[in-house]
Amino acid sequence: MDAPATTPMMTQYLALKREAGECLLFYRMGDFFELFFDDAREAARILDIALTTRGEHGGAPIPMCGVPVHAAESYLARLIRAGCRLAIAEQVETPEAAKRRGGSKALVARDIVRFVTAGTLTEEALLEPRRANVLAAVCEVRGAIGIAACDISTGRMELEDCAPEMLGAALARLGPTEVVAPEGWEQAPDDAIARPAAGFASDAGEAKLKDLHGVATLDGFGQFGRAMLAAAGGLLAYLDHVGRGRMPLLLPPVARAPAQTMAMDEATRASLEVLAASQGGRKGSLIDAIDRCVTGAGARALAEDLSAPLTDLAAIQARLALVSWLHDDPLLRGDLRTVLRALPDIGRALGRVVAGRGSPRDLGQIRDGLAEARRVRDHLAQREDRPALLDALMPALGGHGALTDLYTRALVPSPPTTRDQGGYIAEGYDAALDALRQTSGHARRAIAALEAKYRAETGIAALKIRHNGVLGYFVEVPARAADALMAPESGFTHRQTMAGAVRFNALALHEEASRIAESGGHALAAEEAHFEELVAHAVAAREAIALTATALARIDVAAGQAERAAEGRWALPHVVDAPCLAITGGRHPVVEAALAETRGGGAQRFVANDCTLSPEDRLWLIGGPNMGGKSTFLRQNALIVLLAQAGGFVPADSATVGLVDRLFSRVGASDNLARGRSTFMVEMVETAAILAQATERSFVILDEVGRGTSTYDGLALAWAVVEAVHETNRCRCLFATHYHELTRLAETCDALSLHHVRAREWKGDLVLLHELAEGPADKSYGLAVARLAGVPPAVVKRARAVLDKLEKGRAATGGLAAGLDDLPLFAAAAAAEEEQCDELRERLKALDVDALSPREALDELYRLKREADPG
Ligand code: ADP
Repeated sequence: MDAPATTPMMTQYLALKREAGECLLFYRMGDFFELFFDDAREAARILDIALTTRGEHGGAPIPMCGVPVHAAESYLARLIRAGCRLAIAEQVETPEAAKRRGGSKALVARDIVRFVTAGTLTEEALLEPRRANVLAAVCEVRGAIGIAACDISTGRMELEDCAPEMLGAALARLGPTEVVAPEGWEQAPDDAIARPAAGFASDAGEAKLKDLHGVATLDGFGQFGRAMLAAAGGLLAYLDHVGRGRMPLLLPPVARAPAQTMAMDEATRASLEVLAASQGGRKGSLIDAIDRCVTGAGARALAEDLSAPLTDLAAIQARLALVSWLHDDPLLRGDLRTVLRALPDIGRALGRVVAGRGSPRDLGQIRDGLAEARRVRDHLAQREDRPALLDALMPALGGHGALTDLYTRALVPSPPTTRDQGGYIAEGYDAALDALRQTSGHARRAIAALEAKYRAETGIAALKIRHNGVLGYFVEVPARAADALMAPESGFTHRQTMAGAVRFNALALHEEASRIAESGGHALAAEEAHFEELVAHAVAAREAIALTATALARIDVAAGQAERAAEGRWALPHVVDAPCLAITGGRHPVVEAALAETRGGGAQRFVANDCTLSPEDRLWLIGGPNMGGKSTFLRQNALIVLLAQAGGFVPADSATVGLVDRLFSRVGASDNLARGRSTFMVEMVETAAILAQATERSFVILDEVGRGTSTYDGLALAWAVVEAVHETNRCRCLFATHYHELTRLAETCDALSLHHVRAREWKGDLVLLHELAEGPADKSYGLAVARLAGVPPAVVKRARAVLDKLEKGRAATGGLAAGLDDLPLFAAAAAAEEEQCDELRERLKALDVDALSPREALDELYRLKREADPG
């Protein structure tokens, strides 16, 4: 490509680049993928590889960088992680074919064979074993949002619809790595990839789904609304585009009804650190503290359970019964986990196979995994006291006898990850293949015999027959012995002179070599044909194989939960259908684990606390010093509810959990500046969502709400929020606050009670007991905490003087909350406002508009407006 202006290659490149659009184009050149122009600049920066130039375009040098094909996967992985999307342009004919087609200077034809994007990966090396990889498509149909989500690495697909304001929560549950949305749609999520709107059509979506699963109607899979089907259309169109027409593994879609799972919005998930800690990453998250799964598929299923706790009592109890059964039988649990630990990830192997990117090793994994599943079934079948959920899973563990038999006969015990060398079809499977192999085996032996013969004939002991990719087979002798073979009548022809060695050809060697090449080629082709056929069997059985994978994952999750419970002496929760909560000896799994880790350095033990809420005492106001353990207490109760409804044991001595329909967790003024809103604004938006959505069945934890603004504003808002939660939402709620004034709410709110985290001053030092007690906090200990935190003594002393003054002032004026005594009750105040509105409504109703002159109508309008807004 060192030619000026535009070369044919550049023309080809630019056409492919147009097709690739925003994706970085990986352009295959022999053993390298090369990137040009801006793609090269970006890739070189991210990969930290050399940016060079190659030739010119329009008079300027073309920036270029490249990666070797054999190592491309690790480079792809890094680019994907950095948020890039890639297009892979391969050579789609051999250089020889190109020459035959267009003469010696012909350019090899190239085509984009696939796109690599974060949401459409199947490669083992590019995926995280313990995390699902979700691609989602969203769109709107007549006011309803449709969401289609899939994980093509395992084929799971689900459709749902929701109100526009719930889109954020739904996406937060799914945690997609890639989202697509129609071009030009204003409500599209910020990071969504815009795709042609025409793809998001419900009739096309429905037709494609039917076609994909070979059914005349989707009714057998569930009920799907227009919005869901339109999103499915967009999703399938994108997959079709990315896979260049080859559809990945997709199982029949499941319709998700929001009511089946506990609703948690994005802020709640983030603040409870369900799947990721607030600093990012898994360490310090809930799942990190409880995941004891021994398979990647199990860990993925656990993440899903925690993302979408159930609200169906029977389903929760079924899960709990299985965990409990495994909890009570450590021997069985240990055996099962040992077997599961050795299990290959058959779901993902299947994903690769169906996507056309499978290797012989993937087929071997499917074989081994299915065989092992059957052994698990046989082992469990001996038990008579199986819980119902396990019974329901049993059939899915077997039923693959024919397939595993076939694969066992057809494949070698450890098949390779690539097909180009062959050798993965077992001996005895195909007589013709065996014969071909024998021929090439014979020829190989013949070559060994030739070497001995040539040595004897020439008397050169150092003579060797060797092989390389360029020359094929050749005879090599040290340079000092080469003269004899150079003679014309020697029977050898010179091929190449190296430093210290000379290489020759010989007729007999050439013949044997061709025999090897020919039979080898035929053998490879025969293996390829078998491979295709074996793949077809897996593709045909894909739904049953996926079911087996799911069943194994469910057993792993249950055994892992049981293991975790046994480790931490956790309790089997009693889940009931009533708005109550009764936890004794509750702990925060993450904080407890963190404290245990630092035990060496004089660290403390976690102090367990109780929490009892009921319709008569449903709102706990919790005071006490900073660092006293308020946030920890709030979160631990939310996490216990979440864990119980996800179907696992809980970190407590005992727990009765009344079903929760929505869980909310809010922390005052958390730093969310990244989204361009002030922290206080975020706090209020989030609080508004709770007031709008929490029901009598919900559980809400509010941590220092109102902290993000001035003292008066903050106190006033906190006051009003507590009243509203108490009177209107009537949900179970834990409210942590440092506003001592709020304790006066106990006088008016009958289902509210006061609590505090205990602290003691001892010899001038503050001792935080992390222990919850009834009643209001006696003082705030702010200065003691400041001293504990290392604020210089002089500053603390000065603060003490200021505080004394302030407190004197408070004593004289009644303080911050002075004047609140004559505040009307929340309900009365709200009703009064309503009443006023209603009076206006009555006046409007009474108006006979037709009887008014325009002038009178205008006067009336002014009057009404004055009444509505006298100020
Ligand atoms: P607050 O919300 O009152 O400011 P936190 O809940 O953030 O306090 O707790 C502060 C620290 O105290 C935690 O990081 C933890 O190390 C410790 N802590 C909290 N609760 C407990 C507990 N129950 N037992 C032991 N240590 C605790």
